[in-house]
Amino acid sequence: MGRKVVCKICKEKGDSDLFFFTTDEKGRRKYYCSESEYNDFLNQKEKRYKLLDYIAVEILKYEEGQIVPPVMTKKIQALNEFYDYEVLKECFKQNKESIHYWIKVKNFQSEYGMASYIMKIIEGSVNDVYNSWKHKKRVIERQETDKVNVDIMNQLENNTVKKNENDEGILAFLDEEDI
Ligand SMILES: [Zn+2]
Repeated sequence: MGRKVVCKICKEKGDSDLFFFTTDEKGRRKYYCSESEYNDFLNQKEKRYKLLDYIAVEILKYEEGQIVPPVMTKKIQALNEFYDYEVLKECFKQNKESIHYWIKVKNFQSEYGMASYIMKIIEGSVNDVYNSWKHKKRVIERQETDKVNVDIMNQLENNTVKKNENDEGILAFLDEEDI
């Protein structure tokens, strides 16, 4: 039995001998329920960063260091409860031209007004993007399953061939009279 520790991500309590941990540069340990929970957390963080970076640079054309308006990050957080960050990024990508058009036409007086308007556009098309994303993902998964099946088939074939070779190998050791 180790000591009682708390998962940094989901706050679940557990045993330090059973939990996954990382060690920081000062040698301090941080505990997590499992390595997969930790990796998933890092993956989400990375995807969120990429999305916000895309919005700042490509959509809002901000300078480096300028932050995405809080009204947007809040809405994105809420949308992320259902939609993957990848879906949201794709949604911004597909609406980039129209967002730029409306920013020009509407001539917003406040950043809040502009940000809210952009999020309305995103919310209006997120389900279409989600559906095609889901479909694409399913196709890729099916292709991967097919590939695994082909690999298994190939392996089975190779094994059969090898078996035949082995049989011949044994035959070669036998003299004519043994057969
Ligand atoms: Zn946890």
